[in-house]
Amino acid sequence: MRRIPESLQNLVDQLSRLPGLGPKSAMRVAMTLLKWPEAETRRLGKGIFELRDQLNLCSRCGALSDTDPCPICADASRDPTQICLVAEWDSMLTLEEGNFFHGSYIILGGLLAPLDHSPAESLEMQRLYERLAEGQVQELILALGSTADAEATATFVKEQVNRRFPGVRVTRLAQGIPLGAEVRFMDRETLRQSLLFRQSI
Ligand SMILES: [Zn+2]
Repeated sequence: MRRIPESLQNLVDQLSRLPGLGPKSAMRVAMTLLKWPEAETRRLGKGIFELRDQLNLCSRCGALSDTDPCPICADASRDPTQICLVAEWDSMLTLEEGNFFHGSYIILGGLLAPLDHSPAESLEMQRLYERLAEGQVQELILALGSTADAEATATFVKEQVNRRFPGVRVTRLAQGIPLGAEVRFMDRETLRQSLLFRQSI
Protein backbone atom coordinates (compact mmCIF):
# COMPACT_ATOMS: atom_id res chain seq x y z
CA MET A 1 0.00 0.00 0.00
CA ARG A 2 1.22 3.46 -0.90
CA ARG A 3 1.86 5.46 2.25
CA ILE A 4 2.45 8.86 0.66
CA PRO A 5 -0.30 10.12 -1.69
CA GLU A 6 0.94 10.19 -5.27
CA SER A 7 0.40 13.93 -5.82
CA LEU A 8 2.40 14.73 -2.70
CA GLN A 9 5.16 12.31 -3.69
CA ASN A 10 5.35 13.90 -7.15
CA LEU A 11 5.78 17.35 -5.64
CA VAL A 12 8.45 16.11 -3.20
CA ASP A 13 10.31 14.45 -6.07
CA GLN A 14 10.26 17.68 -8.06
CA LEU A 15 11.24 19.86 -5.12
CA SER A 16 14.11 17.61 -4.14
CA ARG A 17 15.76 18.37 -7.49
CA LEU A 18 16.20 22.00 -6.42
CA PRO A 19 19.62 23.06 -5.15
CA GLY A 20 19.98 22.65 -1.40
CA LEU A 21 16.84 20.53 -1.00
CA GLY A 22 17.15 16.83 -0.26
CA PRO A 23 14.11 14.50 0.00
CA LYS A 24 13.56 15.31 3.68
CA SER A 25 13.67 19.08 3.31
CA ALA A 26 11.57 18.78 0.13
CA MET A 27 8.94 16.98 2.20
CA ARG A 28 9.08 19.79 4.78
CA VAL A 29 8.57 22.37 2.03
CA ALA A 30 5.63 20.39 0.63
CA MET A 31 4.05 20.13 4.09
CA THR A 32 4.46 23.88 4.58
CA LEU A 33 2.82 24.54 1.22
CA LEU A 34 -0.12 22.39 2.27
CA LYS A 35 -0.64 24.63 5.26
CA TRP A 36 -0.63 27.82 3.21
CA PRO A 37 -3.94 29.46 2.31
CA GLU A 38 -5.12 28.17 -1.06
CA ALA A 39 -4.78 31.56 -2.79
CA GLU A 40 -1.11 31.74 -1.85
CA THR A 41 -0.24 28.27 -3.11
CA ARG A 42 -2.10 29.05 -6.34
CA ARG A 43 -0.12 32.28 -6.73
CA LEU A 44 3.15 30.38 -6.25
CA GLY A 45 2.08 27.75 -8.77
CA LYS A 46 1.07 30.43 -11.26
CA GLY A 47 4.41 32.16 -10.79
CA ILE A 48 6.29 28.97 -11.61
CA PHE A 49 3.97 28.24 -14.52
CA GLU A 50 4.46 31.70 -16.03
CA LEU A 51 8.21 31.75 -15.51
CA ARG A 52 8.94 30.13 -18.84
CA ASP A 53 6.26 31.98 -20.77
CA GLN A 54 6.94 35.51 -19.68
CA LEU A 55 10.65 35.58 -19.04
CA ASN A 56 13.01 36.18 -21.95
CA LEU A 57 16.71 36.38 -22.37
CA CYS A 58 17.80 39.84 -23.40
CA SER A 59 19.21 39.47 -26.92
CA ARG A 60 21.95 42.05 -26.20
CA CYS A 61 23.34 40.91 -22.86
CA GLY A 62 21.74 37.55 -22.09
CA ALA A 63 20.10 38.70 -18.85
CA LEU A 64 16.75 37.33 -17.72
CA SER A 65 14.17 39.99 -18.35
CA ASP A 66 10.52 40.38 -19.21
CA THR A 67 11.41 42.83 -21.94
CA ASP A 68 13.88 42.55 -24.82
CA PRO A 69 16.18 44.48 -24.67
CA CYS A 70 16.34 44.42 -20.89
CA PRO A 71 16.02 47.72 -18.97
CA ILE A 72 19.82 48.02 -18.61
CA CYS A 73 20.50 47.55 -22.34
CA ALA A 74 17.61 49.91 -23.17
CA ASP A 75 18.94 52.64 -20.87
CA ALA A 76 20.51 55.26 -23.14
CA SER A 77 22.18 57.01 -20.21
CA ARG A 78 24.54 54.08 -19.62
CA ASP A 79 28.10 54.24 -20.93
CA PRO A 80 28.28 52.29 -24.22
CA THR A 81 32.08 52.21 -24.17
CA GLN A 82 32.38 49.84 -21.20
CA ILE A 83 31.14 46.28 -21.00
CA CYS A 84 31.42 44.13 -17.92
CA LEU A 85 31.59 40.42 -18.61
CA VAL A 86 30.08 38.19 -15.92
CA ALA A 87 29.64 34.44 -15.77
CA GLU A 88 26.02 34.34 -14.67
CA TRP A 89 23.09 36.67 -14.32
CA ASP A 90 23.22 36.81 -10.50
CA SER A 91 26.72 38.34 -10.66
CA MET A 92 25.23 41.13 -12.73
CA LEU A 93 22.51 41.65 -10.13
CA THR A 94 25.12 41.96 -7.39
CA LEU A 95 27.08 44.53 -9.37
CA GLU A 96 23.89 46.45 -10.14
CA GLU A 97 22.90 46.52 -6.48
CA GLY A 98 26.15 48.34 -5.79
CA ASN A 99 25.15 51.02 -8.33
CA PHE A 100 28.76 51.87 -9.09
CA PHE A 101 29.04 50.53 -12.63
CA HIS A 102 27.32 52.49 -15.36
CA GLY A 103 28.34 50.61 -18.47
CA SER A 104 26.51 47.56 -19.75
CA TYR A 105 26.95 43.84 -19.32
CA ILE A 106 27.29 40.59 -21.15
CA ILE A 107 26.49 37.31 -19.50
CA LEU A 108 28.82 34.55 -20.56
CA GLY A 109 26.55 31.74 -19.43
CA GLY A 110 29.18 29.89 -17.39
CA LEU A 111 32.90 29.34 -17.12
CA LEU A 112 35.34 27.07 -18.82
CA ALA A 113 36.14 24.09 -16.64
CA PRO A 114 39.40 22.70 -18.04
CA LEU A 115 39.37 19.69 -15.71
CA ASP A 116 35.86 18.72 -16.83
CA HIS A 117 36.73 19.49 -20.46
CA SER A 118 33.87 21.94 -20.61
CA PRO A 119 34.07 23.20 -24.21
CA ALA A 120 34.47 26.84 -25.19
CA GLU A 121 31.30 26.42 -27.27
CA SER A 122 29.29 26.37 -24.03
CA LEU A 123 30.06 30.07 -23.58
CA GLU A 124 28.11 32.87 -25.22
CA MET A 125 31.16 34.19 -27.06
CA GLN A 126 29.17 35.04 -30.16
CA ARG A 127 27.10 37.55 -28.23
CA LEU A 128 30.32 39.17 -27.03
CA TYR A 129 31.85 39.28 -30.51
CA GLU A 130 28.72 40.85 -31.96
CA ARG A 131 28.73 43.59 -29.35
CA LEU A 132 32.43 44.31 -29.84
CA ALA A 133 31.99 44.32 -33.61
CA GLU A 134 29.56 47.23 -33.25
CA GLY A 135 32.70 49.26 -32.54
CA GLN A 136 31.51 51.31 -29.55
CA VAL A 137 33.13 49.32 -26.78
CA GLN A 138 36.55 50.51 -25.68
CA GLU A 139 36.98 48.48 -22.50
CA LEU A 140 35.92 44.96 -21.61
CA ILE A 141 36.00 44.38 -17.86
CA LEU A 142 36.25 40.74 -16.84
CA ALA A 143 34.32 40.15 -13.61
CA LEU A 144 34.52 36.38 -13.55
CA GLY A 145 35.90 35.72 -10.06
CA SER A 146 39.21 34.17 -9.13
CA THR A 147 38.62 30.44 -9.12
CA ALA A 148 40.74 28.21 -11.36
CA ASP A 149 37.84 28.02 -13.85
CA ALA A 150 37.47 31.81 -13.81
CA GLU A 151 41.19 32.22 -14.47
CA ALA A 152 41.08 29.79 -17.38
CA THR A 153 38.03 31.58 -18.80
CA ALA A 154 39.61 35.01 -18.39
CA THR A 155 42.73 33.87 -20.25
CA PHE A 156 40.64 32.39 -23.04
CA VAL A 157 38.43 35.48 -23.42
CA LYS A 158 41.41 37.82 -23.34
CA GLU A 159 43.23 35.88 -26.06
CA GLN A 160 40.15 35.77 -28.29
CA VAL A 161 39.31 39.45 -27.84
CA ASN A 162 42.92 40.60 -28.29
CA ARG A 163 43.14 38.65 -31.53
CA ARG A 164 39.80 39.74 -32.98
CA PHE A 165 39.43 43.22 -31.53
CA PRO A 166 42.92 44.59 -30.80
CA GLY A 167 41.50 48.06 -30.12
CA VAL A 168 39.49 46.90 -27.11
CA ARG A 169 41.24 47.16 -23.75
CA VAL A 170 40.67 44.06 -21.64
CA THR A 171 40.80 44.62 -17.87
CA ARG A 172 39.79 42.57 -14.86
CA LEU A 173 38.54 43.28 -11.36
CA ALA A 174 41.39 43.87 -8.93
CA GLN A 175 42.49 40.97 -6.81
CA GLY A 176 43.90 41.21 -3.35
CA ILE A 177 43.13 41.65 0.30
CA PRO A 178 39.42 42.02 1.11
CA LEU A 179 38.28 45.00 3.17
CA GLY A 180 38.60 44.45 6.90
CA ALA A 181 41.11 41.61 6.55
CA GLU A 182 44.52 41.39 8.17
CA VAL A 183 47.69 40.68 6.22
CA ARG A 184 48.83 37.96 8.63
CA PHE A 185 45.70 35.91 7.90
CA MET A 186 46.02 36.09 4.12
CA ASP A 187 46.85 33.04 2.06
CA ARG A 188 50.01 33.20 0.02
CA GLU A 189 48.31 33.46 -3.38
CA THR A 190 46.12 36.38 -2.28
CA LEU A 191 49.19 38.16 -0.95
CA ARG A 192 51.09 37.48 -4.14
CA GLN A 193 48.25 38.95 -6.22
CA SER A 194 47.94 41.93 -3.86
CA LEU A 195 51.61 42.70 -4.29
CA LEU A 196 51.37 42.24 -8.04
CA PHE A 197 48.37 44.58 -8.37
CA ARG A 198 49.55 47.14 -5.81
CA GLN A 199 48.70 50.79 -6.41
CA SER A 200 50.03 54.20 -5.51
CA ILE A 201 48.36 56.00 -2.64
ZN1 LIG B 1 20.27 43.31 -21.74
